[in-house]
Formats: sequence, structure tokens, C-alpha cells
Amino acid sequence: MKVTTIGTGYVGLVTGACLAEMGNHVVCLDVNAEKIKMLNDGGIPIHEPGLDAVVSRNVAAGRLQFTTDVDAAISHGTILFIAVGTPPGEDGSADLQYVLSAARSIGQRMTDYKVVVDKSTVPVGTADRVRAAIDAELAQRGTPIGFSVVSNPEFLKEGAAIEDFMKPDRIIVGSDDDQATLMMRALYAPFTRSHDRLMVMDVRSAEFTKYAANAMLATRISFMNELALLAEQVGADIELVRRGIGSDPRIGYQFLYAGAGYGGSCFPKDVKALVRTGREHDQPLHVLNAVEEANERQKRVLVDKVVARFGEDLSGKRFALWGLAFKPNTDDMREAPSLVVIHELSKRGAAVAAYDPVAMSEAAKLLSHVPGVSFCERADHALANSDALIVITEWKEFRTPDFDRIKSELNQAVVFDGRNLYEPATMKLLGIEHHAIGRGTTA
Ligand code: NAD
Repeated sequence: MKVTTIGTGYVGLVTGACLAEMGNHVVCLDVNAEKIKMLNDGGIPIHEPGLDAVVSRNVAAGRLQFTTDVDAAISHGTILFIAVGTPPGEDGSADLQYVLSAARSIGQRMTDYKVVVDKSTVPVGTADRVRAAIDAELAQRGTPIGFSVVSNPEFLKEGAAIEDFMKPDRIIVGSDDDQATLMMRALYAPFTRSHDRLMVMDVRSAEFTKYAANAMLATRISFMNELALLAEQVGADIELVRRGIGSDPRIGYQFLYAGAGYGGSCFPKDVKALVRTGREHDQPLHVLNAVEEANERQKRVLVDKVVARFGEDLSGKRFALWGLAFKPNTDDMREAPSLVVIHELSKRGAAVAAYDPVAMSEAAKLLSHVPGVSFCERADHALANSDALIVITEWKEFRTPDFDRIKSELNQAVVFDGRNLYEPATMKLLGIEHHAIGRGTTA
């Protein structure tokens, strides 16, 4: 099939590359000329395990192209994926300007039947707005051409995007049109060969499903984070509690880890957008309001612990900070809790020596103006002359560090463990002061 992705970010690039891998001819369009140049030069603008191999294989096979040429891209695909960003607007609602601009571009240029697929995460009712935007352009041109608008929200996880796209738990297709549904089934058939994981539903339910999924996941995290704060007060260990409740199949173990708060390009904005949708329909979402509030507080928990240990004035202090990306296996810094921690430490006069395996250049763009921040090429380089180590992202390489080195390099053997990577009992034996989340402090 001939496919175009409009937007070549995390979602558009992965979608395009994986569809090309199954034999489709894919053109990836982006307005960002630098990104397209990099892709055409053989580079990959994001860190995503396995993506470079899929991209280079399919470019070499002539099935995957990158362009800024809107006319050519829209004329190419019979199926056009809109995979542009939907950042939060000032009032928390999803900003649809990029989605609607893509829709208008389609309406201005299409000359034959198209299936227009909303892959971006968009509020309920957006498909109608996309349809109206295309219709308006067609009416202006005086050219009645058939098209369908389908909702196909994306559930991939950054850091495991290729795996998730190739072996999805489910594919949701919201469609009110039989022809478009058949085409979507055909497009996704290679990804659901073992058993049919494609669910067809009405467009609004499909749009809603994406928000419901992210809201549920964010809720689990905030729930555990709040319980972790209470566990510290009552002398319980949240990690043991997690295992205790996760063994109930109705609860399950996944997404139950207490930590330094959630970030990323999806949970914060999608929770906000759903809360906003609730408000617009006079249907307040009390639980989700609290989820967001709890997360804002949680992103400051590590700072509170540092201040409790070292005092409000941190001038003259230096902290080694491991992990900048909002989660492991990605260089995505959007809404990363590390940003809050670094700003708060810097505000109190501290210096921060940061290390992340892949996110440092992204982080440098956001932190260059923050006083006292430096970046280290290796994790252990951050330790020397630091007063404590703060771990924020659970990269695998931080799981079993050289504790002797940590002890000898730090001014004092103090570790703030924002992802509960280390066992309190082990840290006690090692003689390291360990501040975890919901597991108490081991001195
Ligand atoms: P991104 O910011 O990485 O990429 C969006 C791209 O769209 C950018 O490269 C931008 O230049 C381009 N763009 C904007 N307007 C354009 C236009 N008119 N024509 C062509 N290109 C245009 O965003 P992303 O992380 O890929 O997210 C895209 C959507 O998918 C969002 O709605 C997001 O919520 C959703 N989503 C993201 C993830 C994720 O893990 N990142 C997962 C599921 C869903």
C-alpha cells in the first residue's frame, strides 16, 4: 500500500518505518527541514532502540522516503497518517493547530480518495473537526473528492517503540466507514497474524480509549506515589506493599512502582487534556485532578529529601545526578522530573553534575541557562567532590553500580534513590546513607 505519515517524530517515524518493513511504500513528511535532512543523510533524530536498523533497511530497499515536499507526500499516500504533536495549550486542552493544519494541507492538495488517519492523541470529536477542515478546503476548490477520517491512536512506549509497533497488544481503529475499515485491516494484518488484535469501534470511542489508557496508567503511578509518602510516615516499605498487592491478578504488578513522578510527552498532557474535556462537558474528573496534583508534588519529593538532609541553603554543595531522560531507553526530556529537581537545586545555590547515557544533548538544550549545571561523560565522573548522588532515571547501568567507588568518590556516602533501585538492607551493610521513595532512610 502507499502510505504517508504527516509528522516524522517518535510516532510518525516509527509508524512509517514499521509499515515500510511490512512491504508498504511509505513517505514521511515533516515541516522540520533539519530533521528530514538528517534522515536523508542516514541519521536518526531520536534515540529509539532498533529504529536505525529498520529505517536504513527500508530506505535501502526503496520503500521509505523522507521529504518536506507537501505536494508530493500528499499525492503519494492513499492512507495518510496525521502524526503531528498535540502539545497542551494554555488551558490544558490539547492544542490542535498542527493536526488541523495537516488536515487543511490534505484538503488543499488531494486529487483522489484518501483515508485520513488521526494517529496523534486527540480529544473526542477531533475526527469531526479534521473532516470539516478537509471539507472546507475541498469546497473552496470546488472539487468534491471522497475521503474517510479514521481514528487510530498509538500505544507505543518510547524506548520500546519498535517492539510495541511490531507486536501490539491491540490496534484500535475508530471508523464509521466500511471501505476505510477494510483498508486499515489490510494495512495492519501483518502485525496481527498470530491472533486478531485489531478492534474496530466508533470514532469517538477510539479517541477516548487513548486518553482512558494513559489516564489509568498515570493514576496507578500517582496512587503508588501517594501511598509511598504515607508508607514513610507509618514505617512501611512500599516495595513490599507493591509485591503484596501486585500478586492479585485484578491489580497486577505492572506500573505500580513508586518513584520521583511521571513525565514524558504523553501522561502529563493527556491527563490535563482529559480533565479539560471533563470541565468542558460539566463532568468534573476528581480522580484525575488529584492524579496530576500528586504528580506535581512527587516531582519535588527528591528535592524535599535533599533539603531535609542538607538544609534549605545549598550553596557550596554539589550533587551528582544520574538520569535525565523522563524514562530509560529514550532521549526524550519532555516534562522529565529531572528538570524540576535540577531547577530546584540550582535555585538553592547547588551545583549539579549530571550524567545520562543518551539524553545529555537534549538536556543541554533545556538546561544551558541554569546556573551550576554541568554534564559528565561517564556516570562515575559525576561523583568526585559531590556531596551526594541523586538517581532519577532507572537506566539499567545504574542498577548495579560500583558502590565502593560511590563511597570513595562522594564527599559523604549519601544516595537519594528516586526509583528505588537499591535495597535498603544492602545499602546499610555497605555503609551508605540511602534515601529511597516510600522505603524509609537507611543511615
Ligand atoms: P513529535 O513532537 O516527536 O513529532 C511531531 C512531528 O510533527 C515534529 O517532527 C513536527 O515537526 C511535525 N509536524 C508538525 N506539524 C506538521 C505539519 N503540518 N506537517 C508535517 N509535519 C509536522 O511528537 P510525537 O511524540 O511523535 O507525538 C505525536 C503524537 O502522537 C502526539 O499527539 C502524541 O501525544 C502521540 N503519541 C506519542 C507517543 C510517544 O511516545 N511519543 C505515544 C503515543 C502517542
